[in-house]
Amino acid sequence: MDRREFIKKAGVGFAAGSVLGTPAIARAQKKFKWKMVTTWPPNFPVFHEGVVRFAGQVKELTEGAIDIRVYAGGELVPPLQAFDAVSQGTVELAHGAAYYQAGKAPASQFFSAVPFGLNAQGMNAWFYAGGGMALYREVYAPFNVVPFPMGNSGVQMAGWFRKEIKSMADFKGLKMRIPGLGGKVLAKAGGTPVLLAGGEIYTALERGTIDATEWVGPYHDLRLGLYRAAKHYYYPGWHEPGTALELAVNKKTWAGLTKDFQSIIETTAQAVNLWMLSEFEAKNAGALRELQTKHKVKVLPLPASVLKELKKLSKQVLDEEAAKDAMFKKVYDQFKRFADETGTWSKISERAYLQALEL
Ligand code: CA
Repeated sequence: MDRREFIKKAGVGFAAGSVLGTPAIARAQKKFKWKMVTTWPPNFPVFHEGVVRFAGQVKELTEGAIDIRVYAGGELVPPLQAFDAVSQGTVELAHGAAYYQAGKAPASQFFSAVPFGLNAQGMNAWFYAGGGMALYREVYAPFNVVPFPMGNSGVQMAGWFRKEIKSMADFKGLKMRIPGLGGKVLAKAGGTPVLLAGGEIYTALERGTIDATEWVGPYHDLRLGLYRAAKHYYYPGWHEPGTALELAVNKKTWAGLTKDFQSIIETTAQAVNLWMLSEFEAKNAGALRELQTKHKVKVLPLPASVLKELKKLSKQVLDEEAAKDAMFKKVYDQFKRFADETGTWSKISERAYLQALEL
């Protein structure tokens, strides 16, 4: 390129840049002041941190045009009513997990965690490349909510048990804090699922009101001090193999945005989705070491025979739920097809590689 041509091109580039580089802001004559509620306690690591990060990045990318004020669970609305507040338009945004909507939309559970379902990598593949997003939007359309995946815990832990689990017989009469579909599986195994909010778990376990609990993974479980109330820490989290978290946007709010602002929301949600998963992976590792070395926690695998039986019971639970709800069945059928197909590939890729590391 000669010098004259370069100047000409650079000039055009500059001129185009000055037009194309600013229209997002120029077009956004409106300023938005939004409220965002969450399901999480104030300063809850990763979950709440990620939401604050989301609000900050959206503000930066829109040069202050979208200003989001974040409220932790209970600060503006009760934690489990965050989704309803978005649905009713009281607030513009919420962050939580789809299985909290199980009561009004049983199919929502597929968008957070399914026992023996997809892990984080699988969930993201399903959402972004496997038809999951279209179903997600369809399930939430009656609630006037536009959903986006935003965060994933990775594989959780099976939980804390006061007594050892040696066979399925140890689940008989076991009172365990375990929500959702996992709780239904425990009930089938002869146990009693108990619903408790995060803040109530430690005391219940310490006093023996419950015999066991699941929570998240080493990082969050360490902070809750659960190792002081039970010494057996089991893996893997068969009931939550890669729990996806969600951003819920009010439909009217979403429709009122220009395409570039919609793109900023969507892309930032994807960025935070990756950020949260990365945080979990890194922080869980350090916390696990601390639990084992400093607090002498016994980290144990659930026996293969137990996992095999829990898997069988999980399928029964999913089939029963599908028979009760048409939308659940629709999502289940597609989810299962996707999980089976990617499972075949994963068997000779991820799983084969992880097994090779054990050799
Ligand atoms: Ca959990």
